[in-house]
Amino acid sequence: MSYRVLILGANGFIGSALTAAILRERDWEVFGIDLSDHKLGELTSNPRFKFIEGDITINREWVKYHIKKADAILPLVAIANPAQYVKDPLRVFELDFEANLEVIRDCVNYRKRLIFPSTSEIYGMSPDAELDEESSALVYGPVNKQRWIYAASKQLLDRVIYAYGVRDQFDYTLFRPFNFIGPNLDDIYEAKEGSSRVFTQFLSNIMHRHPIRLVDGGEQKRSFTYIDDAVECLLRIIDNKNGVASREIFNIGNPANCMSVKDLAHLMVETAQEFPQWSERARTTSITSVPSADYYGQYYQDIQTRVPSIRKTVERLGWAPTADLQAAIRKTIEYYVRSESRYRCSAVELKNIA
Ligand code: UDP
Repeated sequence: MSYRVLILGANGFIGSALTAAILRERDWEVFGIDLSDHKLGELTSNPRFKFIEGDITINREWVKYHIKKADAILPLVAIANPAQYVKDPLRVFELDFEANLEVIRDCVNYRKRLIFPSTSEIYGMSPDAELDEESSALVYGPVNKQRWIYAASKQLLDRVIYAYGVRDQFDYTLFRPFNFIGPNLDDIYEAKEGSSRVFTQFLSNIMHRHPIRLVDGGEQKRSFTYIDDAVECLLRIIDNKNGVASREIFNIGNPANCMSVKDLAHLMVETAQEFPQWSERARTTSITSVPSADYYGQYYQDIQTRVPSIRKTVERLGWAPTADLQAAIRKTIEYYVRSESRYRCSAVELKNIA
């Protein structure tokens, strides 16, 4: 019988890219659930992919049943957008923490392998130049800065999972994504600020001819990781050759792609000008600054720098990221140029039919 992977949130950014990679590069079966399937495209007709539309908090029996049947479980349903942490912190707690705790307990009870998304945000404002899975301190702001509810929720889940590993030899891997980027990270057609992470937000601003706004001047840095690199690492974690990933925590990131938000804005505007369909829009995009309190409100607190140590991930999994930031931006814009032209074609077809 082939290996069975259960992906909760299969239509998400990581879920959809991972499902595509598994079906392309492995002979496993994938079971998936999500609220919709718009990022999955033709994958839903693949006979090795069984997908249902649904909410994991409502379809509890489906989830339980499939955890029982699966070999590896990836619960990827979560709110992972800082604008939402400050806008609806309790929703973040209910979904990211409470709903996922139930899934974790099912995996423990059925003794199933869990591959759980921790977060690079977990390190918070840690002073370390490179954030290390085993030695970096996790540093958060006061309770009145509600941004930290996400990191705090994830931290407690990491600690719960780790404790099950120690007490029950529970088989898990925790992975920490460092600003994964690529097509379909968020909805680029949604022009409203706050609905996207910075990478999609800036592309969306260029596309909609809106000014790019650098929060507090944009000196803060992130290490951006192209989704294909990230998914390649996840495949190795699921492979788990000789148990190399069991009861381990791995940063997944690209320290070579550490860049300030300001430099990212300029690089995106410059790269977008290479594409005839986007060049005029990019040339006229202005870049301004906005205080964080105006952009996110009073409950926000930023992280000034976030660089992963990937020493352990590279050593243990034999993995290394390959896409530099400009290549990642190019590939993403190429994707949207293609989908914009497909959209235009189908609009013309529809008009002709009408
Ligand atoms: N940011 C910005 N302009 C925007 C959106 C975000 O300057 O329009 C900044 C934000 O303040 C943060 C960084 O970009 O410092 C990354 O934000 P993102 O939402 O991608 O997530 P984070 O890395 O903070 O989890």
